[in-house]
Amino acid sequence: MADDVAHVAAIKKALGDRAAVRVDVNMAWSELQAQHGLAALADAGCELAEQPVATAEALARLKGRYPIAIMADESLTGPASAFALARVAGADVFAVKIEQSGGLRAAQQVAAIADAAGIALYGGTMLEGAVGTVASAHVFATFRDLQWGTELFGPLLLTEEILAQPLQYQDFQLAVPTAPGLGIALDEDRVQFFRRDKKRSAAVAAH
Ligand SMILES: [Mg+2]
Repeated sequence: MADDVAHVAAIKKALGDRAAVRVDVNMAWSELQAQHGLAALADAGCELAEQPVATAEALARLKGRYPIAIMADESLTGPASAFALARVAGADVFAVKIEQSGGLRAAQQVAAIADAAGIALYGGTMLEGAVGTVASAHVFATFRDLQWGTELFGPLLLTEEILAQPLQYQDFQLAVPTAPGLGIALDEDRVQFFRRDKKRSAAVAAH
């Protein structure tokens, strides 16, 4: 833990005010470790720690004790968990993810619960490809406020395109398509190419 915090502090020191630094602990700390870790991260100028500990109760005990935002991720598995977390004031920020929430409508419900509880929102990603990413973007675009932004960069990590028209990234922004539905069209040839079922094997054999 001390090494990890020192690493983050060195990054923040090198960046200064040119960039904000946030960390994702992925539930790795015990509550006692988190008490030390969050204090040190706050001292280092880190602005947010994502899911430092595993349980909602421990998150609630930590939140507000240090000048650093606490964001819930793994603790959020849909509206019921969002409500439970909001009830114990277990987070400053919710990372909303469409799959983790249980779908697009459920993700909207998670966001509505946060909004009602005064919890800020961040648009989370499971590094989806283009289809999941654009679905996430549509949902996040309905939020009243997305105080902590989003980073829907999943498609940028992939070397193959599956859409007829690639998503439009520019100046660190993703344009939400305006066409009906998700506003995207699959490149059917590419879909056939990537099929993993028997139809594709047959097609390959035929060639
Ligand atoms: Mg996370």
